[in-house]
Amino acid sequence: GRIHQAMVTSLNEDNESVTVEWIENGDTKGKEIDLESIFSLNPDLVPDEEIEPSPETPPPPASSAKINKIVKNRRTVASIKNDPPPRDNRVTVVGSARARPSQLPEQSSSVQQNGSVSDISPVQAAKKEFGPPSRRKSNCVKEVEKLQEKREKRRLQQQELREKRAQDVDATNPNYEIMCMIRDFRGSLDYRPLTTADPIDEHRICVCVRKRPLNKKETQMKDLDVITIPSKDVVMVHEPKQKVDLTRYLENQTFRFDYAFDDSAPNEMVYRFTARPLVETIFERGMATCFAYGQTGSGKTHTMGGDFSGKNQDCSKGIYALAARDVFLMLKKPNYKKLELQVYATFFEIYSGKVFDLLNRKTKLRVLEDGKQQVQVVGLQEREVKCVEDVLKLIDIGNSCRTSGQTSANAHSSRSHAVFQIILRRKGKLHGKFSLIDLAGNERGADTSSADRQTRLEGAEINKSLLALKECIRALGRNKPHTPFRASKLTQVLRDSFIGENSRTCMIATISPGMASCENTLNTLRYANRVKELTVDPTAAGDVRPVMHHPPSQIDDLETQWGVGSSPQRDDLKLLCEQNVSDI
Ligand code: ADP
Ligand code: MG
Repeated sequence: GRIHQAMVTSLNEDNESVTVEWIENGDTKGKEIDLESIFSLNPDLVPDEEIEPSPETPPPPASSAKINKIVKNRRTVASIKNDPPPRDNRVTVVGSARARPSQLPEQSSSVQQNGSVSDISPVQAAKKEFGPPSRRKSNCVKEVEKLQEKREKRRLQQQELREKRAQDVDATNPNYEIMCMIRDFRGSLDYRPLTTADPIDEHRICVCVRKRPLNKKETQMKDLDVITIPSKDVVMVHEPKQKVDLTRYLENQTFRFDYAFDDSAPNEMVYRFTARPLVETIFERGMATCFAYGQTGSGKTHTMGGDFSGKNQDCSKGIYALAARDVFLMLKKPNYKKLELQVYATFFEIYSGKVFDLLNRKTKLRVLEDGKQQVQVVGLQEREVKCVEDVLKLIDIGNSCRTSGQTSANAHSSRSHAVFQIILRRKGKLHGKFSLIDLAGNERGADTSSADRQTRLEGAEINKSLLALKECIRALGRNKPHTPFRASKLTQVLRDSFIGENSRTCMIATISPGMASCENTLNTLRYANRVKELTVDPTAAGDVRPVMHHPPSQIDDLETQWGVGSSPQRDDLKLLCEQNVSDI
């Protein structure tokens, strides 16, 4: 956008341009500029036939006359008004995008070569100099105008952004201070979220975290999003704390997992990195399990069962259905086609240590263990499925059965584990099994002390099963001979999924983003972290510098929550082994 004088050093007839040079801060600079621009900035040089009688008339083709004129005028100088008398072959040029960028410092005012700063904008200058509107606008003037337009647009956008930011940070919010701290912290991060282009690693045990967005209710309550997922495997919790002198500060805790899914990640994306790699396992005669773990309302059912739109769940978008879809796709592959596998599905619920068949009107089933420690759920309906639609129908039946007769669907489902299984059989014999589990909510009942006996017992049972589950997965990861599967009905029923060389498991820990859920969220993250102890490497996590690295907790919070264990030395495994194995 600068207008200044320059020396014509050569004429390039082939592309109708001139090369000009000028001195700037002691350096000689140069550029090529087309004749058109030269003429519009230096009307004196324009050959007579260049001046159009009307703006509608197209310009005549550049003729040799033009070139002759500039050759003739080689010593002519064009100047912006009030310029000192011209010398030599100087012309006025405008800096443009075609200029060598490293040579032109950014300047918005029009600077003339003699060092004086003109008080008119380039557009005005162009208009003043090249004047009457009857003349056709040159490319150059258009370009200057475009620059001006862009600048104005940018200013407007910045103004809007500032206004929006002011709204985002609502000064009336009681947590205004914390909000600003989190915002500033986020501003300093270099975000590199997981994308579909990221490699899918082979894990025997995969532990990941999924953050859901703030919901309407939380937004209305002015809850704050205290979770940041800066990279593909790091989760940060900004926990508000208070000093003795009542000043508030953030304690940023950082955790690392195999994958971390931001609130923008759809089910498909979560599926891609978690359950999808396990589909192949069951075709290779293996066992696979995939768990959704987290507090009630954090998104377990959304992840496993599918999106809710209003009251209806679109189960085709859940991991159950996505896994079923891929099972049927795999079945068509030549390698597996020749095995002539049949696909079956089961869907049951474990509630307070009892098993109910969701595909058979919630019939209560008995769990038996034979002499060879084979666990059997007696009478569990195994339905053959031929296509994805068959599976979706079963999920629908199971879902409505799960919540029927309940005053609050979530109150009930939050206290039960739902197990959906896809079973492959070859001539009736088990080939592989994929168990997908929507676990009971892990939260401590806020009113544990005031809750009735039944509720407390339920809570203790949930706690026990979640502790046992964690220990079973840990044992699987360490190839330990002893797996405390008998410690709970859940792990007992899933026992065959944990044993065998070729078994794989995946845990998706779902978390709520709100500050109100902070404590529960931290418990979820600590639990998931114990399942597979990945540590935070500050260098590998990009620009993430954890303010505080959370040490692996020796005593799990769940333990204290429900009063199962009281000694910090006592480890969960021992605890579970000591417990009586009830009602087998
Ligand atoms: P849980 O099963 O853990 O109790 P839900 O899956 O029922 O939790 O989720 C609670 C609410 O949050 C539901 O209304 C659900 O639609 C919504 N929700 C959960 N996860 C997400 C997500 N990733 N994106 C959008 N909404 C979600
Ligand atoms: Mg649920």
